[in-house]
Amino acid sequence: NISATRPVIRQLDDAAINRIAAGEVVERPASAVKELVENALDAGARRIEVSYADGGKTLIRVSDDGCGITPADLPLALSRHATSKIDGSDLLNIHTFGFRGEALPSLGAVGRLTITSRADGHDAAEVTVSGGEMSGVKPAALNGGTIVTLRDLFYATPARLKFMRTDRAEAQAITDVVKRLAMAEPFVGFTLRDISGGGEGRVTFRADPETGDLFDALHGRLARILGAEFAENALRIDATREGLQMRGYAALPTYSRGSSVAQYLFVNARPVRDKMLYGALRAAYHDFLSRDRHPAAALFIECDPTLVDVNVHPAKSEVRFRDPGLARGLIVSGLRHALAEAGHRASTTVAG
Ligand code: ADP
Ligand code: MG
Repeated sequence: NISATRPVIRQLDDAAINRIAAGEVVERPASAVKELVENALDAGARRIEVSYADGGKTLIRVSDDGCGITPADLPLALSRHATSKIDGSDLLNIHTFGFRGEALPSLGAVGRLTITSRADGHDAAEVTVSGGEMSGVKPAALNGGTIVTLRDLFYATPARLKFMRTDRAEAQAITDVVKRLAMAEPFVGFTLRDISGGGEGRVTFRADPETGDLFDALHGRLARILGAEFAENALRIDATREGLQMRGYAALPTYSRGSSVAQYLFVNARPVRDKMLYGALRAAYHDFLSRDRHPAAALFIECDPTLVDVNVHPAKSEVRFRDPGLARGLIVSGLRHALAEAGHRASTTVAG
């Protein structure tokens, strides 16, 4: 009797679907922080505060002074594939960090999530989702903006919980994520606080909003994050090629590192880890550095969103350029030009 062993096809319920999606979107506490801070940036926040306890395993809280969410929209923010950022008609033209409408429902499926928010002209309200079950919208007290609290990440998925590393390692990963986003947004203030053990907690990173023009602001922010020595040795990079723009700072070859840890690449303000882009950076310094030395740089590539596909990976750390050769060429030639000019300046100074 074959039918006795034939598997039955079932429609999964929302909680299960969200848990599966969460596996891709939320790998560890730092990925939750990244999604929440990106949401705050998308909401136009000028100040963002991130608190965490126990490496983010028991508590992550992100507060912002952005546009807020109306009480009526709160349940929608927690529904899968619900987003205010795109209408689905043009997936190649995305101007925000988010667009999938997956982060909040995913976080609500693998942790205890509370969103408190107040939009201009509306009352503050709060909604909680725990193990995929959503509470009703309740009145709350808040002056403006949004506070998202995520407790007990992965309590609903014990298998994932086992893959967590030490509190220290997870805290380090959170710091990394916040610093990367802070580099890309120098006009936004960031505070990162470890509140393990309760109380006010210890500020582990702070960057006040920078002022001035973009390059000044960026230089100030990079000095804060990568150190004064990087900033002193950094060349201003400003190059364009056929609609692709690269701005940022790249260090002189004399300030090279023994590893590639000080390489920060962004595409349309999104921190990316992309082999092709890293390769281009390496190639640009090829004539200036020995094999075991690595350039230090923070480079921001900007282009029309239609020229780059960010929809390659759920964590959005990979990108695909419509013309990869053009991106590579921009990086290699833009950096070589700046390095050659700096070399020329240095040699004429010595000569004169
Ligand atoms: P996405 O960012 O892809 O749209 P999310 O699940 O991260 O999906 O968020 C769903 C929606 O909730 C967003 O489109 C936005 O409208 C709203 N939202 C989330 N976080 C915030 C925030 N900090 N401030 C204002 N609105 C927010
Ligand atoms: Mg989002």
